[in-house]
Amino acid sequence: MDYLSLAETFEKIEATRKRLEMTDMLAELFSQTSINEIEIVIRLTQGKLAPDFEGIEIGIAETLARKAIYEATRVDEKKILEWWIKDGDLGSVAFQAVSMKKQTSLFTEKLNIAIVFDSLLQISKASGSGSQDLKMKLLAKLFHDSTPTEARYIARTLNGKMRLGLADMTIIDALAVTYATKEERDKVVWAYNTCSDLARVGKLLAEKGINGLDEIELEVGVPLKAMLCERLPSIPEIIEKLDGKCAFEYKYDGLRIQAHINKSGIELFTRQLENVTSQFPDIVEMLAPAFKGQECVIEGECVPVDINTGEMLPFQTVSRRRGRKHELDSAVEEFPVNLFLFDCLYLDGQDFTQTPYTNRRKMLESCITETDRVKLADVLITDDFEKAEEYFQNVIGKGGEGIIAKSLAEDSYYRAGSRGWNWIKFKRDYKTEMADTVDLVIVGAFSGKGKRAGGYGALLMATYNADEGHFETITKLGSGFDDEMLAALPEMLEPHKINKPNKLVNSKMQADYWFEPSIVLEVRGAEITLSPIHTCAMNLVKENYGLAIRFPRYMGIIRQDKGPEDATTTEEMLALYEIQSNRGGE
Ligand code: AMP
Repeated sequence: MDYLSLAETFEKIEATRKRLEMTDMLAELFSQTSINEIEIVIRLTQGKLAPDFEGIEIGIAETLARKAIYEATRVDEKKILEWWIKDGDLGSVAFQAVSMKKQTSLFTEKLNIAIVFDSLLQISKASGSGSQDLKMKLLAKLFHDSTPTEARYIARTLNGKMRLGLADMTIIDALAVTYATKEERDKVVWAYNTCSDLARVGKLLAEKGINGLDEIELEVGVPLKAMLCERLPSIPEIIEKLDGKCAFEYKYDGLRIQAHINKSGIELFTRQLENVTSQFPDIVEMLAPAFKGQECVIEGECVPVDINTGEMLPFQTVSRRRGRKHELDSAVEEFPVNLFLFDCLYLDGQDFTQTPYTNRRKMLESCITETDRVKLADVLITDDFEKAEEYFQNVIGKGGEGIIAKSLAEDSYYRAGSRGWNWIKFKRDYKTEMADTVDLVIVGAFSGKGKRAGGYGALLMATYNADEGHFETITKLGSGFDDEMLAALPEMLEPHKINKPNKLVNSKMQADYWFEPSIVLEVRGAEITLSPIHTCAMNLVKENYGLAIRFPRYMGIIRQDKGPEDATTTEEMLALYEIQSNRGGE
């Protein structure tokens, strides 16, 4: 397939906000794609060279990319820099430069998707001496052979930000429309949540139809999407929802880890499917002697601890471990962690995801010998409200943030990638202020005044509307930032800056700066109110009103484990609003 056809489809997708239209355009694209090309088409649409868990990044610094654009077009470097500063979008810089191209050459090669993909793959693999030159040459050649539209999307692929506004679920919808029936969509979703690789799912569908997905199974070394929880406001309601009896587990506050163990070793993945094995050599070291079987996939929470007192420390401490690739030894020593295991998805050749909770817990108990550093999640199984309440108070007394109730039903399966009523969380915060902290995405910012002059004064925060695939503003966040965070904000937000609101952001407010929805912060507010200026759940509670958070405070936690689409959803906000309204009426 010509890369131009793909780039032109991207252009059309970018121009619409409507999810259904995007799905139709993608479905048309897929129907014109050959079986041999479907994988590449899906990867390039996602702006990726491989599934997330493989951790393959193109690794081109933005300065090198600008230089390559210059080499290919000979447009004044100052002009290129100017466009970059104004727009912050390498795609638009490349588009403009290629449109103005001074160098005309007879030797341009028509780009097809394989050439583009292979060149980018070569760039990503280049390492060692001479690699910068090689990357530069390959990239300049791509830009040299590009039309302006092609150049736009090649440039955007470099940092994986295609700006198409496409959620994975839209690609899944399009795959289902093209290769399956409406009823079979759930199977496509299941396949994706199990293998975490949309291109693989697409290839199987194109090759063998819906039955091709039967080949997908849980594999050690390939992370599954994490199962998620619902929430309810009281323990009696939880017990009732879970048929009168359930397991209450300690809710540990740390970093969720999916550990894959087999003969070749141990690999660790986060909830975002990032392979963090090299960042947590201590977990690898402590898991090896605790595991008694041959191979497994188990899940748990890695929690920072004070090794002298055994006390669990605040979650932020573990985030200080992240990204410390260079001073690893000192980080391991300074911020030690323990692992609390709560699920067993696979053990010695058997997939347990489609078995009930009690069985998975039994398997976990059978394959783990507890040590000082590796423990099983604490659990109480009961049908008694009072005992459950006492357990909850006990957890809080120990500094825990709450409990997770787990269904004991026959069908209490591990539902990869979905939020469901098999797990229900209940946190301390329900008893105070707003019913819970929420995780909101930064979509914009306002210039600072007074002490904050020259920096950002407040951030415009949004929830994720999962049905529409949009981000909806809910509050202006200005408190809870310490000086260190205030100073760090501009640099942190710079790579995400854009010159107008992202098309998936619904905002009635005019911010001074806009960002690609990327960074998620934990926020607590005094209460949820109705507001005509925020778009979260607009018109759903009251006409022309959305939901807003009064007196929001940043809780000091950047949710590095959450992407923008993992932020608190609009639906969850509505549920919290309902909880709050009911409580007020008691
Ligand atoms: P939240 O991030 O507030 O939605 O809470 C869900 C998270 O709690 C999960 O993704 C896990 O990382 C974490 N967690 C802590 N303890 C447990 C447990 N016993 N069972 C399941 N998840 C747990």
